[in-house]
Amino acid sequence: MSVPSGSLSERRRTHRRLEAEALVDHVAGRRDDLVELLRALVAERSVLGEEASVQRIVEQRLRVIGFSTERVTVDAEAALGDPYAGYPFLSYEGRSSVVGRLPGAGGGRSMHLSGHVDVVPVERPDLWSRDPWGGELDGNRLYGRGSADMKGGVAAYLIAAEAVAELCPERRGDLLFSTVIEEECTGNGMWSVLRAGHVGDAVLVGESTGLRFAHAATGVVWCRLVAAGGAGHSMLATGEGAFDRLAQAVAALRTVEDEINAAVGDPDFAAVRERPYGMTVGRIEGGVWTASTPYELTAYVRFGFGPETLPEEIQERMRTAIQDTGVEIHFEGFRARAHNHPKTGPLVDALNAAHERILGESVAPLVNTGTVDTRYADHGLCYGGIGENLHGTDEWVDVDSLVHAATVVALTTAGWTA
Ligand SMILES: [Zn+2]
Repeated sequence: MSVPSGSLSERRRTHRRLEAEALVDHVAGRRDDLVELLRALVAERSVLGEEASVQRIVEQRLRVIGFSTERVTVDAEAALGDPYAGYPFLSYEGRSSVVGRLPGAGGGRSMHLSGHVDVVPVERPDLWSRDPWGGELDGNRLYGRGSADMKGGVAAYLIAAEAVAELCPERRGDLLFSTVIEEECTGNGMWSVLRAGHVGDAVLVGESTGLRFAHAATGVVWCRLVAAGGAGHSMLATGEGAFDRLAQAVAALRTVEDEINAAVGDPDFAAVRERPYGMTVGRIEGGVWTASTPYELTAYVRFGFGPETLPEEIQERMRTAIQDTGVEIHFEGFRARAHNHPKTGPLVDALNAAHERILGESVAPLVNTGTVDTRYADHGLCYGGIGENLHGTDEWVDVDSLVHAATVVALTTAGWTA
């Protein structure tokens, strides 16, 4: 682009303005491309353990725009030894996160754009009004498992990265791009990427935040409750069995849930709703016959909590609460800390300036009542589009909001790394 004469700072300002206009136009022109890319990502059923093919799509795309890429695997033993990493879930053989790097000229701040590619399973595809893996477009909504959580964000961020790579050749800071695994069960994908040194001076994660910036999220631990029983004909049973013990244990955990919700100390979490910390029994297993007492019943529990408590403290309280029920508790998957990063600072300012330019108003803060990968990055925020039915039926993401997110992230990144 041509730069008019004038003082150096004036020329710089003009250059930045023209560059910003070009970025906005560029992203607007990529809307169809974004939809096609998102469809391709949704079509890959990247549930836990099946992330390889979607990772190849991202890696290929990054290479085409000049990024050097590498794979980061999880050191399971190191994860186990870190009190805030997740308990390894599956073997990490053949499973990795993708990290791309596009160097700047040097001397500038780096930006790390990130997202997760794993999605949760579909429990009842028959209840969906559309194919969960079809990426069907209806008006402005694109449907599919993972469309909102968070392949829409991955697609938007890729479009943003492409725009910056192409239109900001004088950029001084490096641009990093990662797509991680296991955000939905351990967080060990992001944990290992940062641990491998791919940190960046700022981190943005494209979760569907409704075009707000999420600076805080609850902590989460997962556990497996195992209630033993004696197998046999139910006519021999004397009333209490594995299920009753399991029910007592769940009730005991509910009292811990009540206690922590009655003592919410962090005003940001208290403002979300009356009970910001939730427990879910997501899955139960066991038994083979109605008239047979089961050998064993298992319940899988997700437990949310706030920054008042550390994961190990919650685990101890859960253990103590159920100790008289005879039910075993095994911690697995998440042992994620809650976090509440500052709502102000240079990254928020940069994001706000870009958001205001595109949306005409300041960007609003958001507190997440689930865990997100930004807990591992003190300088990290989530920012992404509008979506609904995350983890549920007929999950969808709003395509216009993804174009907005891509534009805001491109402008933020260009300014940050200039
Ligand atoms: Zn997510």
